[in-house]
Amino acid sequence: MIPATNKLMKIFLNGQLVEEAEAKVSVFDHGLLYGDGIFEGIRLYNGRVFRLEEHLKRLELSARAIMLDIPMSREEISAAVCDTCRANGLTDGYIRLVVTRGTGTLGLNPYLCTDPQIFIIADKIQLYPEEYYTDGLKIVTVPTRRSGPAGLPPMIKSLNYLNNILAKIEAINAGCMEAIMLNEQGYVAECTGDNVFILQDGTLHTPPSSAGALKGITREVTVEIAHTLGIPLVESNLTRYDLWVADECFLTGTAAEIVPVTAVDGRAVGTGHPGPVAGQFIDGFRAKAGSEGTEI
Ligand code: PMP
Repeated sequence: MIPATNKLMKIFLNGQLVEEAEAKVSVFDHGLLYGDGIFEGIRLYNGRVFRLEEHLKRLELSARAIMLDIPMSREEISAAVCDTCRANGLTDGYIRLVVTRGTGTLGLNPYLCTDPQIFIIADKIQLYPEEYYTDGLKIVTVPTRRSGPAGLPPMIKSLNYLNNILAKIEAINAGCMEAIMLNEQGYVAECTGDNVFILQDGTLHTPPSSAGALKGITREVTVEIAHTLGIPLVESNLTRYDLWVADECFLTGTAAEIVPVTAVDGRAVGTGHPGPVAGQFIDGFRAKAGSEGTEI
C-alpha cells in the first residue's frame, strides 16, 4: 500500500497542525540516523479510526521497550489523530503515527536525545489492486531471516525496517509482492508487512509472536472473527511444509486487510484459487471495519 499524495496536506507535528512544507525533522534526529523510533500504521474507515486504542497501546509498549518517552498522553494522541484526519477532509484513509528519539549527537547514545518528535500523517489510501483479493497473492520464502527476539524483538514496531526491506527486495526480485520470512530456527515468522495464517483440516494456524511475528492488530481481529465463525484457531510453530500443504492461506495487516494467498514457493495452495474460508474472513473483516471505530 502506498499512501496517495495529497496536495496541501496538513501534518500534525509536535502539538500542532502545520503545512506539509513546514513538517520537518532534523537531519540529526536519531529516527533518521539510526531508525531509532517507533510507529503505527492505522486505517480510517467511514469517518472512524479502526482499533485506535489498540494501536496506541501497542505504540506505548514499543516506546517502553526502547525506553522512549512519548511526549503526549494516549488521550492527546488520540485527539491529534482525529484532528489530523478532519484537517485533511478525510473519511477513509491511512494514518502514519511516528515517534522518533529526536535530535542528538552523531553518536549512538539515545540519552543525549532530549526532544522526541511526534508526527501524524493522514493521507488518502491507494488500495492494493483488486486482483490481490479476487485472484490471490503468490508469495515466496526468502533467504533473509526475521530478526529474532534476542536481537531486535519483532514485537517492537520500530522505524528500523531494513530486515523487512531486505526480504521485500528478495520477494520482488523473485516476482512476488510479499515474502514469507522464517526465523533463525527455520519456522515461519511472518511476512514483511503482514501476519500469516493457514487453514488445515478446518483449523486455523498462525505463528506465535515468539516465533518472530508482530502482534498485528488485524491478526487480533482475525482471532475474533474465528471465534465468531466457530473456527478453531491455534498459535503454533509452522514450517514451510505446513504452508505448502495448507488447504488455504491468507495474510493480515492494516494496509492489506485480509488477502488470500494462492501460491507459496511455486506450489498452489489448496485449489490454487482464493479459498472459501479466506472469503468469510474478508467479509467478516469488512463488516467490522465498516461499522466500528473511534469517530473523528
Ligand atoms: N508484521 C509486520 C512486520 C508489519 O509491519 C505489519 C504491519 N503493521 C504487520 C505484521 C501487521 O500488523 P497490523 O495488523 O497491526 O497492521
